[in-house]
Amino acid sequence: MGFRAKIGLEVHAQLLTDSKMFCGCSTKFGETANSQCCPVCSGIPGTLPVANRQAIEFVIRTGLALNCRVAERCRFARKNYFYPDMPKNYQISQYEEPLTFGGYLDVEADGEAVRIGIRRVHLEEDTGKNFHLPDGTSLVEYNRAGVPLMEIVTEPNFTSAEQVRAYLTKLREILRYLAVSSGNMEEGAMRCEPTVNLVDAETGQRTEKVEIKNLASIRGVYEAVRYEIRRQMKAVEEGREVRQETRRWSEDKGETQVMRTKESAEDYMYFPDPDLVPMAPSREWVETIRASLPELPEARRARLTAQYGLPEYDAGVLTGTRATADYFEELAALTADPKQAGNWIMGDLTRLLNTAGLPIEDSPIKPPDLAGLLGLIAAGRITGKTAKDVFERMFDTGRSAEEVVASEGLGVVGETDELGPLIDRAIAENPKAVEDYRAGTQKAKGALVGAVMKATKGQADPAIVNRLIDEKLLS
Ligand SMILES: [Zn+2]
Repeated sequence: MGFRAKIGLEVHAQLLTDSKMFCGCSTKFGETANSQCCPVCSGIPGTLPVANRQAIEFVIRTGLALNCRVAERCRFARKNYFYPDMPKNYQISQYEEPLTFGGYLDVEADGEAVRIGIRRVHLEEDTGKNFHLPDGTSLVEYNRAGVPLMEIVTEPNFTSAEQVRAYLTKLREILRYLAVSSGNMEEGAMRCEPTVNLVDAETGQRTEKVEIKNLASIRGVYEAVRYEIRRQMKAVEEGREVRQETRRWSEDKGETQVMRTKESAEDYMYFPDPDLVPMAPSREWVETIRASLPELPEARRARLTAQYGLPEYDAGVLTGTRATADYFEELAALTADPKQAGNWIMGDLTRLLNTAGLPIEDSPIKPPDLAGLLGLIAAGRITGKTAKDVFERMFDTGRSAEEVVASEGLGVVGETDELGPLIDRAIAENPKAVEDYRAGTQKAKGALVGAVMKATKGQADPAIVNRLIDEKLLS
């Protein structure tokens, strides 16, 4: 049999607006329960919603970045269902008329490029949250009710869990570059629901669609999809039926479990929301938004490789976030060696930032500070080894490289006046090595260089020490 997986994805991303979708309540995360609600978002009859313009702009930005068209006119719709975390008993969403639609995103998985169709990117509001306590009581929290939510729906173009993973990784990176969503799946700011079934292209035979919920990481999505494909393949092989249902992913057990049989769109009784006017984004506004789109990660990666001669791996790491790429480019403009600049960011800077739990935006060492340090190394005023110590002190104290080197006496030990006596002493104390080296045994010189380096605590430039020893012994 020629069954192949057919997977579609719905991604919900909370938008980084300061206020909610239809009222002025704050969207700040982690505040006291039910402290960020008002009559509008808690569903008091007679209140009227007003759409958040920035949320609309964020969805248009995302739609354009995903090659979508922007509707000239579209409406909000009510999705009706009863659930305690939704005080109005309906959610304001979009149904037949999404704000943006008909785009695509190209991804690469297993060395193969695939174009994933983007069916629609639309706008809706988030629900509140229920907490079910061990004693059987339940609590409802409405701070999240009405937070702007963007839904990104793909065509069912994925055929493997690897493609799904590549898409989510790339999508999240784009959302972060666009600064429209944090994309943090662990905090629930980005949620993903895959729909999986199997299709035999030759016979047209297919299994029913299964939707998977409760996924808290890209890795979880990848594993759940892989599991679900195997589960359905096995059912088909054994001649069992795959039922249309919603299943939840159990991280602990590593399997999907039945949650409920799937409801259909008709169950929600969608209809246009009579309280909200239709949206009609002007073409001028859309073009202004298009012109303001930042360079996206993939394009930036390619440019960094070409412009600075970076290896692809380095360009990939340095464009991981927009702030990292900005940091690199600011530094590269101030130094002569972009590859070395990138190494410092990927190595020592990242290590210290991780230890301190800081994002690169809040680094105590700014690009001009790091450029100052690289300048001292290039001028031979400090050794590479000393530079690492200087860097750590700069990080801890916020002082410049010059200041640290001057105040702590970390400069390279001067040539003749300081190194001269030390070299004389090394020669006097190692007569055997001197004799061997003069007789042509190159490696005997190592003992002499080593003695001088030790005496300077590693602050001498080995190349200079080598040259001075030769001047004394061979001339
Ligand atoms: Zn409110």
